[in-house]
Amino acid sequence: MDDIESSSFKAPPGVKVVTSKAQLASDDRPSPEMAGWCLQRKNIIVLKSGTILTSDPGSRDVQNCRIAMVNKNIRPGEVLVAAPSLINSFLENLGSIKDYQQIQQDMAEEISGQQKRLRTLVQEAVDADVSDIHMEIRTDVCRIRFRKYGELYLHAEWFPRLGREVAAVAFNKETDHATAHFNPLVPQDAAMPLKVKSGDIRLRLASMPAHGGFDMVMRILGTEKESSIVSLEDLGYTIEQIYIIKRAIQMPHGAVLLSGPTGSGKTTTLAACLHLIKNTRKVYTIEDPVEKVVHSATQVPVNVKTDDRSFASFGRAALRMDPDYIVLGEMRDEDTANVMLRATITGHLVFSTIHTNSAPGIILRLADMGISSVMLSDSNVLVCLIFQRLIAVLCPHCKIPLKTAKAHVNDMHRWEIIFGDAVEHLYARRPGGCKQCGSSALSGRKVVAEVVWVDEKGREYIQKLDILSWERYLRSMGWQTYRDRAVAMVREGLVDPFDAEALIGEMSLTDESKGFDYNVAREQMEKEEARKKKS
Ligand SMILES: [Zn+2]
Repeated sequence: MDDIESSSFKAPPGVKVVTSKAQLASDDRPSPEMAGWCLQRKNIIVLKSGTILTSDPGSRDVQNCRIAMVNKNIRPGEVLVAAPSLINSFLENLGSIKDYQQIQQDMAEEISGQQKRLRTLVQEAVDADVSDIHMEIRTDVCRIRFRKYGELYLHAEWFPRLGREVAAVAFNKETDHATAHFNPLVPQDAAMPLKVKSGDIRLRLASMPAHGGFDMVMRILGTEKESSIVSLEDLGYTIEQIYIIKRAIQMPHGAVLLSGPTGSGKTTTLAACLHLIKNTRKVYTIEDPVEKVVHSATQVPVNVKTDDRSFASFGRAALRMDPDYIVLGEMRDEDTANVMLRATITGHLVFSTIHTNSAPGIILRLADMGISSVMLSDSNVLVCLIFQRLIAVLCPHCKIPLKTAKAHVNDMHRWEIIFGDAVEHLYARRPGGCKQCGSSALSGRKVVAEVVWVDEKGREYIQKLDILSWERYLRSMGWQTYRDRAVAMVREGLVDPFDAEALIGEMSLTDESKGFDYNVAREQMEKEEARKKKS
């Protein structure tokens, strides 16, 4: 075997080939840290000096070897072309190193040290009830920030080397498909199951190169165990909204579409909806990746990067599996939208999510995807449209009356105009919070939603794609937008007016359905100027 390899080996013309150990520095020996890696490859040897010996300098293995070395904090040196016979003799010695097993064990422990650090970090995040871990790795520092209730705060500062190692370990050792080596110079993403003290956690990883380093963000998706299902009521849905959603779930066929920006809790709402389905029914969910485990459903993970494992192809496959309900994780193209249509028309109830800025806006998005308005207004198709966002809710232990809040002094006149006498009962964040809320002054986030039941009259507007008139009609029927919900929560003393405005924009002093009043805007600014001059 060796002979055949040796005889088929041809060095590139003009390249000096190393054929014996005598041609190398006398004290240069194979690197113990890279021994295991080299034994798996068979055509590469890494020396202590960082020199790489290979019989095939053009192979991908050389690049992979460099990356593996960098991950182990070894500086890659020059690449020398060596005769296969020399490489084999090195490999034989490596295999017979008595303490090779010890080396491997040391390496395993070294890695598990970083893996332990990763687990500790994730556990800290789980304990603090945060949604995302941001690692910002730069030349001088690695900043770790946690996102909680939508806001980032500094959790820790690490040496950059530790940050690089933990990021590399996360990608290379822990992800579902740890095929490629982590490369901080290109954007990468992956899903990662991780066992931590409190149980099995699923995370989604993404990295992005940055000036002077890279960012890695880990989103905590949920646990491998059946998630504790939160009811729609606890999420923040109002009683009439829940009534509409329950009514939709009882429909024999049609589509319930849920919309909202990334990170607005759509998956949690979907899980709460699925929990309302009787267990005499068969549910297929098609997700990328599976975020919340629901035992009553068959959950199918898709890989949107390959066509044969897309939402649409798996959706079509699920239709052949005698389902009652189908959940299409995300409607992002015409293909998926057509699967949704076919499923509703063949007598299934379909749930899916979509990205829009309002519930009625879902219609325009579907029309954009190429679905005809005639199809959209078919009475078999759309049943219920939901849009949701998350709003920061005040900590009940430390919230302070709005009138005593220093941060609101300059805006008090605005609140008085908007809320009238109710301003006496409004509350604001207490700077620094209290023990119960971990100094955040918030108790968590709740859904502010708008839920549309698609009725006969609504279908007429949908067919004309006349969303403005439809919204006017809905309002005349007592429908509330998510903006209305946010303002209502301020009125109930649950939300700081500033937190509401961070979500919905400036609260209007006038009724905007009657038109934007420029005179009111001018008076407002004049009053503010006068106040500034006084103080
Ligand atoms: Zn508090």
